[in-house]
Amino acid sequence: MSETLVTSRKQDFPGLLTPEGEAWHYLDTAASAQKPQAVIDAMSRALGRDYATVHRGVYNRSAQMTLGYEAARKRVAEFIGAKSENEIVFVRGATEGINLVAESWGGANLQPGDRIMLSALEHHSNIVPWQLLAERTGAEIDVCPLTEDGRIDLDAMESMLTERHKLVALAHVSNVLGSVLDAKRAASLAHGAGAKLLLDGCQAAPRMALDMQALDCDFYVFSGHKIYGPTGIGVLWAREALLEAMPPWQGGGAMIDKVSFAGTTYAPPPQRFEAGTPMITEAIALHAAIDYVSALGLDTLFDHESALAANARAALRDTNKVTLFGPDKSAGIVSFALDGVHPHDLGTILDEENVAIRAGHHCAQPLMEHLGVPATARASFGLYSDESDVDALMRGIERTLRIFG
Ligand code: PMP
Repeated sequence: MSETLVTSRKQDFPGLLTPEGEAWHYLDTAASAQKPQAVIDAMSRALGRDYATVHRGVYNRSAQMTLGYEAARKRVAEFIGAKSENEIVFVRGATEGINLVAESWGGANLQPGDRIMLSALEHHSNIVPWQLLAERTGAEIDVCPLTEDGRIDLDAMESMLTERHKLVALAHVSNVLGSVLDAKRAASLAHGAGAKLLLDGCQAAPRMALDMQALDCDFYVFSGHKIYGPTGIGVLWAREALLEAMPPWQGGGAMIDKVSFAGTTYAPPPQRFEAGTPMITEAIALHAAIDYVSALGLDTLFDHESALAANARAALRDTNKVTLFGPDKSAGIVSFALDGVHPHDLGTILDEENVAIRAGHHCAQPLMEHLGVPATARASFGLYSDESDVDALMRGIERTLRIFG
């Protein structure tokens, strides 16, 4: 993406300024993305003059809102290459999507002795729900190791998979290392063993063009707030037949067919998995966010952000005071450690320079253990990031190095 395009894009994001109106170098997009004005406006309209609940009212406003909510589902389906909007379940976020699959599909399909394959770089949201499921069902968890440069080692996975594996659950893009999974190979390995594949697409959906048919996974999850939309909404995708075979996980209004004390029957998916009043305004704002990123083109975003990541790595390496984690070619996420400086101290000094990075374990404690560090510093880029952000990061790092001698 050209610098002029990014400059004009920065102006779309009111969150990229400090309260004093100075440039704020936001390098924490992997945690949550800033929102373009178009998303803020869509949310504000939905909460204001368009507001009513969905699926129930006999009045026109509610009917209109229902159309808006369902149009968002259709837009998500189109965005990720789903066959039908019935394959799109709105959830609170990726975390809830994974918990839904673990509870519903996992509860119905796992037996004592069955195995679940995860990897060493997973986010806690793609570990803990499976641990809870394993405790409940007597299933066991295996951890696929990483390659030297921080990718999921699919050669190792190939030799570890057995017919006892019922599920493989992997990050499509690592939130710490930025490494991109060869998802097609992961799908073919999982399916070769007779297992289902869940992809955690939290970091991929905002950065890569997605096509569920080409990926050939079984479940895909992502969060709205990481793709420039609001918090409180996310997406679970699965093929209709798979969703159809899954029992409900939460009970309440909107997910039923008929309720009586003699017994209740359930709505077909996706409604079966959307108990209660849904995230109406969030869905409408997510629609606006998807329109926004789609207009730029996801391939363009990937190239733009990974070029920034490569430049940041080169500049960090030039200091001779940095350990870099993760592969050289990655999505727009860079994790590193500065010699003799705790990541939290670095984060605090950078904050004084209007540079926001993430410092910590990034909800990936097993990965920190693998890397042999308690925490890393992480700079993550978004569609609005440019070289001025990398320069500001490097100025802050030089200053930190001077302070720490
Ligand atoms: N997986 C990955 C790879 C993530 O980066 C995150 C968010 N940091 C999550 C899962 C969880 O997403 P959420 O908190 O939006 O549910």
